[in-house]
Amino acid sequence: MLPSNSDSQQRSLENPDKQTMRVDSTKRNDKLIEVPRKKLNMRLYSESEQKFQDYVNSKIVTISIIALVGAYAILIFVIVALEELLDEIQFNNISSILSWIELGILIVFILEIFVGLYAWGIKKYYKDKWLILDTLIILLSLFFVIFELADQKTSNVIKVIQAVFRFLRIFLLIRKAQTFRRLATISTISTPAEKIVRFLAELKEVLEDENMKLDIDYCIDKIGNNQLYQMGKLDEDNAEAMAWLNQSQQGRADIKRIVTNEQQQQQVQQKKVIANFQKLNIPKRLLDILLKQHDDLYIDPFDCDKLSGGEGLVNLMLFFFENYNLFDVFLIKPKVVRSYFEEVMKGYHDNPYHNKVHAQDVAQTCNFLLSKCKFIEIGQLDEQDIACVLIAGAIHDYGHPGLTNAFLINSRNELALTYNDQSVLEMFHPSQCFKIAWGNQKVNIFENLQFQKYRRIRESIILMVLSTDMAHHASELAITNSRIAAPDFEPNGKDKQRLMDLIVHSSDVSNPTKSFEIYKQWTEKVLTEFWLQGDKERELGLPISYLCNRYTTNTAEAQVGFIDYVVKPTFASILGFLPAYEPFFQNLDKNKAKWQELIEYYKQQLASIQPK
Ligand SMILES: [Zn+2]
Repeated sequence: MLPSNSDSQQRSLENPDKQTMRVDSTKRNDKLIEVPRKKLNMRLYSESEQKFQDYVNSKIVTISIIALVGAYAILIFVIVALEELLDEIQFNNISSILSWIELGILIVFILEIFVGLYAWGIKKYYKDKWLILDTLIILLSLFFVIFELADQKTSNVIKVIQAVFRFLRIFLLIRKAQTFRRLATISTISTPAEKIVRFLAELKEVLEDENMKLDIDYCIDKIGNNQLYQMGKLDEDNAEAMAWLNQSQQGRADIKRIVTNEQQQQQVQQKKVIANFQKLNIPKRLLDILLKQHDDLYIDPFDCDKLSGGEGLVNLMLFFFENYNLFDVFLIKPKVVRSYFEEVMKGYHDNPYHNKVHAQDVAQTCNFLLSKCKFIEIGQLDEQDIACVLIAGAIHDYGHPGLTNAFLINSRNELALTYNDQSVLEMFHPSQCFKIAWGNQKVNIFENLQFQKYRRIRESIILMVLSTDMAHHASELAITNSRIAAPDFEPNGKDKQRLMDLIVHSSDVSNPTKSFEIYKQWTEKVLTEFWLQGDKERELGLPISYLCNRYTTNTAEAQVGFIDYVVKPTFASILGFLPAYEPFFQNLDKNKAKWQELIEYYKQQLASIQPK
């Protein structure tokens, strides 16, 4: 068990004598100060110490320790069980063999402690006070095992103490088992920004100067919020010019701040209205399901669509509008909302995957994260926020042509030309959905909103749909993770929009988190769509995109990779601020194991088909 798992390559600081640091102008005088390294009052690690840290943090060592913990757990269990089962003489023989094994394991644990002490130094290693208790238990256990081996005839008093220690060793095992969790969260991909933030957070731990700690918080904040190149504080005399300069970058943040203040006021005024679903004309069988399962991860989206005669998306959105009192927020009649989402639904093409049922599924998964996983409470979302998330989910793939951005760009498609190859489809989807509304008064759900309110809703929805562009997945996720780890993380304040973006993006890639039966259907659909694109690419002589070659893509292998590299890191972030998601997180591993069993089957399938 280790104090940290950071990559120590980032630890070596280049100039050993002096460090120059910028001091936060909002907290202290805006000047550049030079801090001699000694003043930093921190311990810098030698090359061999760093090597040790890397070694101790490596996956192989972590897995070995976990294996040893498992073996130790079985051993303790066997010792306790045998004590009951076997008679004294027989037990003593076996007992001594078991004690020797236990001695071996304990020695390895002690070596682990020594390596940790060498790599991090006593102060840093024992920063986690529980590690002191771990060390004590291990040392005392070692003492008792040696005592047992030296003298087989133990007195009753010693036996009682030994029993107590067995109990304490179970406590130790539970602590050690936490290493499992650490291993699960070791991201397979990490960006320099994440490494820098992690390094700064560790640096802060060893510093004693409070002002320096404030500076580090400032650095983490700026990196985490992607504000490294933003202009400083407004100069009184040039306020107007500075505001103009900052407009493009700061506009977004300012709006968010205003949203937050207004939302807080609105929350105070919120009235509880009893929902009346009868007036919405939702088909009865669907309504019954939604009343029970509208925030359930395991609802069957295909079934919901069938039960409403192919209008699942419209009915789901009507249900949400009533459930969250959104008709009142938008000052709009159910008839207009129905007409609007009927138009949205019609815009979804009959693609194998990117169709109206996918949109309905994403909106419903967003609701699962908002409601069942309690993001509404954690983010202190008001009705306006809830509306934005659910609408973004519903419209996020509107007009999807069943082709990826890469294809549209490579084939010089008109959409790519219109949006300059930048998030082509993600720009297109919301743009069209706002056009639908403003093009026809009868379907305009935004019509009665105040101008400022409309602007904020529009911006929030657009940001969420843009966040579904996989091209920004890794970088945005890294920034979000930095924010979640930052000391001033505010899920209900300045970080709310970022988390709302993640809610929609993660719902968009959530198939692997569902039941395997539903997940498998989605997988077949998405690959059918990809392969149709691959056929087109082959025809046009374009490079065949990743996963789009029906002759080489192993369905099961592709899903294992998708879970490992995309979905698991995404939902690990969700877990970082929505602890209620925990019981569902394990579905990913369960589904991955099922695909792993199928890899061979799909290999044979691939071998049996030949390119025409
Ligand atoms: Zn989608």
